[in-house]
Amino acid sequence: MISARGVHKSFGPLEVLKGVDLTVETGEVVCLIGASGSGKSTFLRCLNGLERANSGEILIGDTPLMAPETDIDKLRQRLGMVFQQFNLFNHLSALDNVTLGPIRLKGMSKAEAEAEAWRLMALVGLTDRADAMPRMLSGGQKQRAAIARALAMKPEAMLFDEPTSALDPEMVREVLDVIRKLARDGMTMVIVTHEMGFAREIADRVAFMHSGMIHEIGPPDQIFEAPREQRTQEFLSKVL
Ligand code: ADP
Ligand code: MG
Repeated sequence: MISARGVHKSFGPLEVLKGVDLTVETGEVVCLIGASGSGKSTFLRCLNGLERANSGEILIGDTPLMAPETDIDKLRQRLGMVFQQFNLFNHLSALDNVTLGPIRLKGMSKAEAEAEAWRLMALVGLTDRADAMPRMLSGGQKQRAAIARALAMKPEAMLFDEPTSALDPEMVREVLDVIRKLARDGMTMVIVTHEMGFAREIADRVAFMHSGMIHEIGPPDQIFEAPREQRTQEFLSKVL
C-alpha cells in the first residue's frame, strides 16, 4: 500500500531524512517511534506530499508520488492525515468540518455527505456533539472530529502524527480507542506515537527512527523486549 525507498529530505544544510525505507502492507499498522527531532513528522509529511522529498521513491499503491505527472492533490486525498494540533476549521461545526472535504473535493451532495458524516460521528462517539463549534469541544472531542474528517474522504490509509500528544491525560484513551477501532476494521495506518503501551498493543510492526533513518523495525514484542540495536535499547530505556 505504501512503499518508501531511500527517502532523503534536507532543509537547507540540515539533512533530516537520510534514506528512509519503509513498506506498509494493506491492513497493516506500523507505529513509528523515536526521539524528538529524529525526522518522524518530516517522513509522514513526505509520505502524503505535504513536504517534497529531495530524492528516493515513494509509492502509494501503484502511484509514484514524486513523479512529475502525479497529481499530488488527488493523491493526498487517498491518505488521511491527523495531526497533533487537530487543525479543524474553527468557523465550522464538527459536522461541517466532516462534510466539507467530500462536498468541495469530491462533489458529493450535501445530503449524501451529511449521511456519511453522521455515520462517522457515531464511529468516533460524537453524535451528540456534531453541531458544536470546535471551541466548544474538548481536546479529545476535537481530535475525534479530526479523525472523522479524515475518514470522510474514504482514505486508503491513515497517517497519524502524535495524535494524543496535545491532549490532557484523561482524553488520551478516547482517542486511542477510536484508532483501535480503525485497526480492527483493517485500516492501513502509520502512527507516530509516544504511547509505547499503545504501540505495543496495536502495531503489527514498530519502526524505531533515529537520526533520519529507520534504525530498527520489527514486531512489537521483539522491539520492546529484545531490541537488537544499541540506539533502540537506549531510547527504550529512557521512555519505558
Ligand atoms: P520529529 O517529528 O521526529 O520530532 P521532525 O521531522 O519534526 O522530527 O524534525 C526533524 C528535524 O527537522 C528537526 O531538527 C527540525 O527542526 C527540522 N525541521 C523540520 N521541519 C523543518 C522545516 N520546515 N524547516 C527547517 N527545519 C525543519
Ligand atoms: Mg514530530
